[in-house]
Amino acid sequence: MRLFACSALAFLLAGVFESPAQSPFQFPTANHALYEAGGDAKFLAPTSPDRSWTTGSFGCVRTDGWQMHEGLDIIHLQTDRHGEPTDPVMATADGTVMYVNLKPGLSNYGKYIVIRHFIDGIEIYSLYAHLSAVATGVAAGKTVHGGEVIATMGRTSNTSERIGKERAHVHFELNLLDNDNFSAWFKKNMPGERNDHGVWNGQNLDGLDPRQILLAEHNPAKKFNLLNFIQSQTELCRVLVRATNFPFLKRYPALILKNPKAEHDGVAGYEIVLNYNGVPFALMPRAASEIKSPAKIQLLSVNAAEYHANPCRKLVVQRGGRWQLTDKGQRDVEQLIY
Ligand SMILES: [Zn+2]
Repeated sequence: MRLFACSALAFLLAGVFESPAQSPFQFPTANHALYEAGGDAKFLAPTSPDRSWTTGSFGCVRTDGWQMHEGLDIIHLQTDRHGEPTDPVMATADGTVMYVNLKPGLSNYGKYIVIRHFIDGIEIYSLYAHLSAVATGVAAGKTVHGGEVIATMGRTSNTSERIGKERAHVHFELNLLDNDNFSAWFKKNMPGERNDHGVWNGQNLDGLDPRQILLAEHNPAKKFNLLNFIQSQTELCRVLVRATNFPFLKRYPALILKNPKAEHDGVAGYEIVLNYNGVPFALMPRAASEIKSPAKIQLLSVNAAEYHANPCRKLVVQRGGRWQLTDKGQRDVEQLIY
């Protein structure tokens, strides 16, 4: 009996202490220093050697907090004899390659790859930028597995300020896709500007913080779930839109909240909750009787504490004691519902 109890206990403990189910997102390079105590400085490339690692992280981390960096700059581990980075870049999860840009001159991402994944009921798009070379066979439509080598790290970009060898990195993003109609929206709203990348333009990809995601996956006390992660973003503001048929609704039904009144009376618009980066993370259908303003887009509320913590996207502004959407904020919402 005692023996049985022991083996039963051992069995239970094995269940507890065995490595947990594989995390959905893997590191895109062999640099895993994020999981070391104080490892950020070995994981991320700052914008210059005298700056903090935070400048290579996601968020309002540049230009004294007034410039957004929408990904992680994961620093290289290995170089060739010329000092060029040679780290293999791997797909972060199973997925399908959606886009490969092989012309560095056409993007500040330089050569880059976008991969679509389905994780916890959410479509999420990883992006890998500044590559020197893309692996043979990696092209739109190809299925890849998490951990599969898709490219070699590089320093490609079309910006006048080059990426120095010492800070060579892969710029890594995890995004929601904003709008399938982006190309048409761009043509109408950005006359004279080029969009060589269709919907795979960075402006159409709404970035989540990959550092937070990788850290949350590593927390043994709480099982990671991507939908929960997205739904627990901090609210920056709420806007009401008189639009009922935009692509984001179809792509992200899991983010639509329940409103029996609107379901019964008919949906006349959506109340959209945005985080500081403009990611729509909750959408509440509204009936006509619940919408007061005739405006197509109306700002309903602002979380001032979050605005002051993360102001760099400049989506809202306080004028004469009243909050309003900035032109940029207005344009971002128009892009979403176009
Ligand atoms: Zn970057």
